[in-house]
Amino acid sequence: MKTKIGTKCVQSGYNPGKGEPRQIPIIQSTTFKYENSDQMGRLFDLEDEGYFYTRLANPTNDHVAAKIADMEGGVAAMLTSSGQAANFFACFNICEAGSHMISTASIYGGTFNLFGCTFKKMGIDVTFIDQDASDEEFEAAFRPNTKLVFGETVSNPGVRVLDIERLASIAHKHGVPCIVDNTFPTPVNCRPFEWGVDIVTHSTTKYMDGHGVQVGGVVVDSGNFDWDKYAEKFPGLCAPDPSYHGLIYTKSFGKLAYITKATSQLMRDFGCIQSPQNAFYLNLGLQTLAVRMPHICQSAKKVAEYLNALPEVKWVRYSDLEGDAEHERQQKYLPNGSCGVMAFALNGGREFANKFMDALRLVTIETHVADCYTCILHPASHTHRQLTEEQLLEAGVDPDLMRLSIGLEDADDIIGDIANALEVAKNS
Ligand SMILES: *Cc1c(COP(=O)(O)O)cnc(C)c1O
Repeated sequence: MKTKIGTKCVQSGYNPGKGEPRQIPIIQSTTFKYENSDQMGRLFDLEDEGYFYTRLANPTNDHVAAKIADMEGGVAAMLTSSGQAANFFACFNICEAGSHMISTASIYGGTFNLFGCTFKKMGIDVTFIDQDASDEEFEAAFRPNTKLVFGETVSNPGVRVLDIERLASIAHKHGVPCIVDNTFPTPVNCRPFEWGVDIVTHSTTKYMDGHGVQVGGVVVDSGNFDWDKYAEKFPGLCAPDPSYHGLIYTKSFGKLAYITKATSQLMRDFGCIQSPQNAFYLNLGLQTLAVRMPHICQSAKKVAEYLNALPEVKWVRYSDLEGDAEHERQQKYLPNGSCGVMAFALNGGREFANKFMDALRLVTIETHVADCYTCILHPASHTHRQLTEEQLLEAGVDPDLMRLSIGLEDADDIIGDIANALEVAKNS
């Protein structure tokens, strides 16, 4: 049965039988029992399916991963301990020392560090490029050892909207997959696979959980990338794996090759699993996601329109606003709304901005975004303080930029708090 996203949010991934729990149960067990040694041996050879150790697979996590895979329109997903782990695994599953990858420059600060610093130490070279660079500039970034192209649907904190279809087609022209971090829009507002993307990642810490209770991530595979067509580029998927007696992932698992390899190699060796308890909380968030996202987008638009009309405000960047430079792109990729996060700057410099932030009462200063609480952050003083002014600009972060994330409170109260804080800041 073909169902809509709101139904998938509630029901996908778990279908209890007679007398079984209606809600996904928390299987809080490290280990699973077997009757004889042969049964267990076959599991270790990946010849049988079954649970044996929660680092590799757990029923609670599998139900929740299957739900997210269905919401994105993919074939399989793997939950991770955080969004950082998701982006690490998504890339490292097909990169190794000596590989190169291309990433758009306007991405989450943590991902920027992962790619620019930690990957470099691991021998993986990353070229950062403006997402709207010309075709020629993109062409020039590719190397014979390039393995993937990475971007964010709506970037954090720059809130730039990615031309998803273009990035996917550039990647495919060079025989590599396109990986997109879809954290901000969530599959309720955008499903990148519909635009040709091959692999999607999320920090489930954000809207998917939506209540600020647990850190988590997920990697979802569309199952569409033809690894065998470019077998020489992806030996990890298309050549025998010595750690599993010479098994070849694409031969044994077909469309599930990428996620199976990520689970059976990377999760086995790095162990950044999501706990079943956290997966249970994540599922509660997912069940209301299709109700929360439209509400959040509606409130955010109201707040953005309010800010946009204020003389104290230098600029507002929120693609849902009609006059926004990326509004046309938002209409194409995110017609139901982008997300609840916007960027803006105040006239009066950093001192006035700090007075304003300190005077907010309902809106809180937090590193977090994208949950039920409205919060604000000044990236240049907070999340991105390790970056130089030049790096800030390269990452699409204006030094004046404040990131405002609208939650589930009443929009009029949020606007009232902003109005009050501006008054306090002006009079102090
Ligand atoms: C928060 C975030 C991450 C990192 O996720 P964690 O769960 O904090 O590890 C990655 N990408 C984006 C777009 C994010 O907003």
